[in-house]
Amino acid sequence: MNCKGVIRELSNYIDGDLDPGLKTELERHLKHCEDCTMIVDQTKKSIEILCDSKPVELPSDVRLRLHAALRQKLGREPT
Ligand SMILES: [Zn+2]
Repeated sequence: MNCKGVIRELSNYIDGDLDPGLKTELERHLKHCEDCTMIVDQTKKSIEILCDSKPVELPSDVRLRLHAALRQKLGREPT
């Protein structure tokens, strides 16, 4: 899995909805990619603050905005 794949699956990963095979790939990527580790950490923290640590479904507009921001962040990256 590459950085774009991580971003694509990020919300499912954080929600715990990710397919176990994809989750393993994603976590393998995180071990050697500081950028994605930081994005995952920051996203988890933002959601915890947003939801007051309760397991709440991320509203779709928040999810869309998050994805847009992450795409922009990674937009510079060569494919
Ligand atoms: Zn990455």
